[in-house]
Amino acid sequence: MSHLWNRVAIERPDWLTQFILHAFHCSLRSHDAQTQCGAVLVDSNNTIVSDGYNGFVRDIDDTKLPNLRPEHPEDYGNPSLDKYLFMIHAEHNAILNAARQGKSTLGSTAYVTGEPCCNCLQYMWQAGVYEVIYTNDNKAKMTKNNPNYRKTFDLIVELTGIKVEEVPLSKINSKFIKSKLKNLDI
Ligand SMILES: [Zn+2]
Repeated sequence: MSHLWNRVAIERPDWLTQFILHAFHCSLRSHDAQTQCGAVLVDSNNTIVSDGYNGFVRDIDDTKLPNLRPEHPEDYGNPSLDKYLFMIHAEHNAILNAARQGKSTLGSTAYVTGEPCCNCLQYMWQAGVYEVIYTNDNKAKMTKNNPNYRKTFDLIVELTGIKVEEVPLSKINSKFIKSKLKNLDI
């Protein structure tokens, strides 16, 4: 008999690609008009525990909230003009979504579309997310060029021992990412 099983070889994404794509898919639901982020928390069996995107709290009329960053420095803190007052980050939302459903995030790994901020890094550690894998999409310009931010990030990593890994989008093997790369200057 030439073959026993009725099957052919198929190509499947590896887990890294699978979860990074899932995070990007979540990001499509973001309320933010400028920066869409997504995060997915995965347990040691590669099962999704929770996911999230950056946005406003649920069940409100969000048309009454700004979804852009303030144009002028004096507008920061103004609830009509400053999205930052209301926008919950993707990683934070993924943790909150798990809590809402009574799911433990202890020992999970986060896959995130971009580099986490220092707050989210600490929230994740506090929630037992000990490993974070993120791509260089949406690399926040302010954080890239702010030495104090960098120092703070590195200090949190050093003190907690949280494992962080940046994976270039070019390493993610998917047609979706490849078409995205064409539109990004990275
Ligand atoms: Zn954050």
